[in-house]
Amino acid sequence: MRVLLLCTGGTIAGRGGDSTDLNAYTAGALPGTALVEAVPELNSLAEITVEQVANVDSADLLFSHWQQLHQRLRTALADPDRFDAVVITHGTNTLEETAWLLQLLIDDPRPVVLVGAMRPATALSADGPLNLFQAVQTAVSPAAIGHGVLVVMDGEIHGARAVTKAATQGVAAFSSRDGASLGWVDDAGVHLPKPGSSAGSAAFASLTSLGPWPQVAILHGCVEPPAQLIPLLLQSGVTGLVFTGTGAGQLSVVERQALEAWPGAMPLMLRANRCGAGPVHRCESHARLGLLPAGTLSPQKARVVLLLALMDGWDRIRLGAWLSAAPR
Ligand code: ASP
Repeated sequence: MRVLLLCTGGTIAGRGGDSTDLNAYTAGALPGTALVEAVPELNSLAEITVEQVANVDSADLLFSHWQQLHQRLRTALADPDRFDAVVITHGTNTLEETAWLLQLLIDDPRPVVLVGAMRPATALSADGPLNLFQAVQTAVSPAAIGHGVLVVMDGEIHGARAVTKAATQGVAAFSSRDGASLGWVDDAGVHLPKPGSSAGSAAFASLTSLGPWPQVAILHGCVEPPAQLIPLLLQSGVTGLVFTGTGAGQLSVVERQALEAWPGAMPLMLRANRCGAGPVHRCESHARLGLLPAGTLSPQKARVVLLLALMDGWDRIRLGAWLSAAPR
């Protein structure tokens, strides 16, 4: 089996001054080749081609990195015989956004698996080596074919839509929103009970190159929200807004009034929720202002959808139709 390993940095490539440093370290310090050399067991799984796309803390990831990853994935998968799967090492902080972006863009049954680590490579009991091994183990498994973009962390296999970083510490920091993970991987093999069915789920597969990038902001609902920021954001060129509404995605009256008072073109807008689980449904008083419900998408994943929808020239009607037809 031939696997392309694209390395972008993160804690999995982090180096600390001391083996007990779990929070004070430099992310994206080690090259991908060093990560592979540290796990000779990978040779039993696949022939691995390592490429360094970036080496950054994922909090510092840029749209240009996404562009590079997307281009490389497209060219790597264009030849049906070159690679059987792709694994991407990534910082955990924004890993779910990259996974979801690629899920929306890449229409190919071959596995694409993202992996990170919560402890730097220099830490006692670093989780990166086993996570990397299990990511490749999953990527070369026939069971992973057709599942779209996957995330492997701490032996769990998550789908790109549902996966989220749910804790700031600990190796079991990832979970799947609104349900269980897709499966798990251990020394008995890869367990993905349901067959893959991702065909056709890459809604933006026709975007063969990314850019120019629209400006999409996320506003977080809270008591007495700073609604005066809304016109300022729109004046500054923001063309998409995600509201992390309270409860089931509710906006306050002052936020709705600020939108109503905006004299310019309305941005493309989604309502997500700050609860961390459960759907946002359509609501007439919000729909009148052009606010679409994000369903079960987290605010950061709703933003990814808006970025691509604006880039691809989607209007509110098309976006609304896709959101209500998209699998939950
Ligand atoms: N700061 C890191 C990053 O997202 C956190 C991690 O990788 O666990 O790059």
